[in-house]
Amino acid sequence: MQKELAGKIERVLLEKKKEYEKELVELNFRAKNNLSSMETNVSNNHPADYSPVQDISLTLIQRRKKMISKCNEALERLRHDEYGICAHCGCEIPIARLMYVPFTDKCVTCKEEVEEDDTIVVNGVKKRISKSRQGSASLM
Ligand SMILES: [Zn+2]
Repeated sequence: MQKELAGKIERVLLEKKKEYEKELVELNFRAKNNLSSMETNVSNNHPADYSPVQDISLTLIQRRKKMISKCNEALERLRHDEYGICAHCGCEIPIARLMYVPFTDKCVTCKEEVEEDDTIVVNGVKKRISKSRQGSASLM
């Protein structure tokens, strides 16, 4: 990969990471607030024993943490000159895609089959798939 491009992607990754970290702090703060004021803060549209806000916050926190580690992994790959290679099929990921989702480690074709967290949606149900290189064959 060209040095200039690698530098550009590194900057984008660092920026994204900073963004996610900032969001994570806010989400943590919000989750804590919801926990302490759950009794008074629950919307009238929901039963008192149900706190969707809290659930959503926790899901978002998990997701942000994952994105931050994805950014770290991508930065690591960039430093070791392994960046831009699809972890699933081994092909080169197009630059246009890398600029759009700099933390990705899969090409568009593989991305369509495998979600970031190695699950796939089948009829609206999330299913885990094996990490083997056989790809979609393992789903059959
Ligand atoms: Zn691929």
